[in-house]
Amino acid sequence: MIKLREEFNKGLFWTVGNGLSISIWKDNWLTGGKATTFALPNVDTSSDIKVNSLISNQQWDRNKIERLFNYRGLQQIQKIKLPYNNISDKLVWSSDRNGNFSTRSAYELISNNKTPRIDYHSWIWKLNTYPKIKNFLWRLSHNGLPTKMKLYQKNIVIPLSCNACQNPEEDVKHLFFQCPFTINQIYEQDPVTLGYIRNINLNNEQIKTILLDLSSTMPKEKIIILATTWWAIWYFRNQNLFLTNPTEKIQNLPRFIKTLRLNWGKTRNLNKEPTENIHTLKKQPPRKKRNIHWVKPDVHKFKVNFDGAVNTNGNSAMGFIIRDHSGRPVFMDHESGTNLSVLQTEALALRAAIRKVKELNLSLVEIKGDNLCLINVLKGIWCCPWDVDPIVSDIRFELSNCPGFHFSHVFREINQVADCIAKLGFLQDRSDWRDDLELSALIRNDALG
Ligand SMILES: [Zn+2]
Repeated sequence: MIKLREEFNKGLFWTVGNGLSISIWKDNWLTGGKATTFALPNVDTSSDIKVNSLISNQQWDRNKIERLFNYRGLQQIQKIKLPYNNISDKLVWSSDRNGNFSTRSAYELISNNKTPRIDYHSWIWKLNTYPKIKNFLWRLSHNGLPTKMKLYQKNIVIPLSCNACQNPEEDVKHLFFQCPFTINQIYEQDPVTLGYIRNINLNNEQIKTILLDLSSTMPKEKIIILATTWWAIWYFRNQNLFLTNPTEKIQNLPRFIKTLRLNWGKTRNLNKEPTENIHTLKKQPPRKKRNIHWVKPDVHKFKVNFDGAVNTNGNSAMGFIIRDHSGRPVFMDHESGTNLSVLQTEALALRAAIRKVKELNLSLVEIKGDNLCLINVLKGIWCCPWDVDPIVSDIRFELSNCPGFHFSHVFREINQVADCIAKLGFLQDRSDWRDDLELSALIRNDALG
């Protein structure tokens, strides 16, 4: 049992609040490994000093850190974003994205990657859907889909960026779990299904484990919705990537998926696959067109747009803009960082924006972001992933006495100004980013409506 406890402890992880509860050398609080591995050679790592001794004025104290840690350790520590408010440290189960304990993640941790006797794939063949979708899932779970990153690993030279969102790398995790385009498609089919996939941990997990996780937590009909949507995204991607005149138009994808799902329900008793193509869809009424313009706030109100971005070098940038009812910028700012997830950059951008709004004493504010996960976390719909928990606590604290603040999700195309400001954070030269031509054009465009 003691052996087991040691193994369990490996999965326990501290998120830093005020640092009072965390022992620097004994506890797990750095994502890169035990703190002792980053200690300078002369440092006594048997002492029980706490993480708060590395913090002064809610900031990491670089001098103190450098007395104990090597450069890699310093980088590890600076990766952790401290909350502004005095919140206590939190112990989480790090194998799970929300920090909740699960027997399966514990079992996998203990089994120490020795392949446990789990049948990873039989659930796929039992799904009540098209054989082609089951085949697709099977290939996905074996990491057998030729994504651009996959081809790159086989030394095939091609542009690597995602066609849908220009993310620098297109791999299965991006394509099926993280791409905003995919997220929107799943959301359009069924928001509940999206909830399941946004709450899983993608880091350090193999795709087959992720899928197995999904299959054990999601109702079968939701898995089928998800798989059908993924299959169709892959199908459309290939059409648009390889055919000069693709027969399928990307705008038709949501209807295409719905029809696909409907047709299976209708014909499954005939035990054959219906032929689905876009021509069978034409009789349906046109979809309501999405309003893709930024909308000015009402008189006396203000609107905040925020965004975060991460590039291939691991640099991150975040930005926000506050505008009045005429679309005129009241304030905008950006910041850069390293080694943050997209979700963390989004949360940091939002926290900075809210602080500024309060500093300027603005009371009626609409806050818009394109990160559905963060917005839903703040609305209390989804659990908060542990890596952004301290920042989200700050945001909640700031908002607790501001009844005039409202959040909502906007699609990426409406959030271009914030995206542009955030990306200027990648530039070395901050001097005249306010005069950036692209940015001013986008702001003007928004103001025209
Ligand atoms: Zn993408």
